[in-house]
Amino acid sequence: MLALPVYVPGARPQGAMVEKLSSNENPYPPLPGVLTAVTDAAADLNRYPDMATSELIAALAELHGVETDQVVVGNGSTAVLETILRALCQEGDEVVHAWRSFEAYPIAVAVTGATSVPVPLTPDGRHDVDAMLAAITGRTRAILLCTPNNPTGPVLTQAEVERVLAEAPSDVLVLLDEAYVEFVRDPAVVDSASLLPGHNRLVVLRTFSKAYGLAGLRVGYAVGRARLIAGFRAASTPFGVNALAQVAAVESLRQRDALLDRVDALVVERDRLVAGLRGQGWDVPDAQGNFVWLGVGDRAGVLARAFAEAGLLVRPFAGEGVRISVGDRDACDLVLDVAGEFLAAG
Ligand SMILES: *Cc1c(COP(=O)(O)O)cnc(C)c1O
Repeated sequence: MLALPVYVPGARPQGAMVEKLSSNENPYPPLPGVLTAVTDAAADLNRYPDMATSELIAALAELHGVETDQVVVGNGSTAVLETILRALCQEGDEVVHAWRSFEAYPIAVAVTGATSVPVPLTPDGRHDVDAMLAAITGRTRAILLCTPNNPTGPVLTQAEVERVLAEAPSDVLVLLDEAYVEFVRDPAVVDSASLLPGHNRLVVLRTFSKAYGLAGLRVGYAVGRARLIAGFRAASTPFGVNALAQVAAVESLRQRDALLDRVDALVVERDRLVAGLRGQGWDVPDAQGNFVWLGVGDRAGVLARAFAEAGLLVRPFAGEGVRISVGDRDACDLVLDVAGEFLAAG
């Protein structure tokens, strides 16, 4: 049995008064049209879903301006990532990624038998592109880039990703995880659509779990060159996206404008939260996702407990810091109250 790192999910609320800010979920419920589509589709749950996921894949291809054979879907983008790494890696291979980053990465690498090569972030929570390029060896099969980085918040820039594509050996797959791309407002952010046509080994990962608010249904996808995607599709679990998830994702794409209005509102709250925290004296890295990072090191547990006492569930990373998801206005006000008192108490 492999010794796998354990995925620690964000804490679940215990009482009625608790606000869950521990899993970067969307605080809004699904749009009414999405709920109706799911409820209607539930009448056919005795049937298998569309194995080809045709409607969803066609909608995604249109959204991204690519061919349908350039899209692969799965049970959340975590599952898509696992499929890709399984297709790519075997024992002895290496996958380079930043650390601290998304905690599913070391697990997804380890299940393939390959070795994770974690490269520490810079002090301001960014990918250290120099160090990541230097960590590539003859055994490296993929480099995994998380933009914006979960849990710290900054994006990778166009220049940084172009540099990775120019300098990493041509047989190294470049995986760009854009789980929070809809929340990004930094104009320097990488524009993956501009890079995909010219770079055969670039694969972009997206999810319906964050901006689209469908975390509970599990839909994610990857976009890349058709030949690569065909291999990933072949390695995917058949019927990997369930019937309700398929209709919810298709309906969400139809209502993308309404969903993006909600994203705008969350971005306003995020920026207000960051400004408020900085105003109190906190050192907050650039926050481009729907979360903020307080890098308090050894005090992560103490700070998380202070939030919990106020009814806020946040995500501590022992010895590193605390990640707080952006909730509604009241939740952000409460975050600011607790954070301010914590600083004042020293
Ligand atoms: C939340 C998240 C995902 C999405 O995971 P799903 O399996 O699609 O829910 C992917 N990457 C990162 C960095 C995330 O934070």
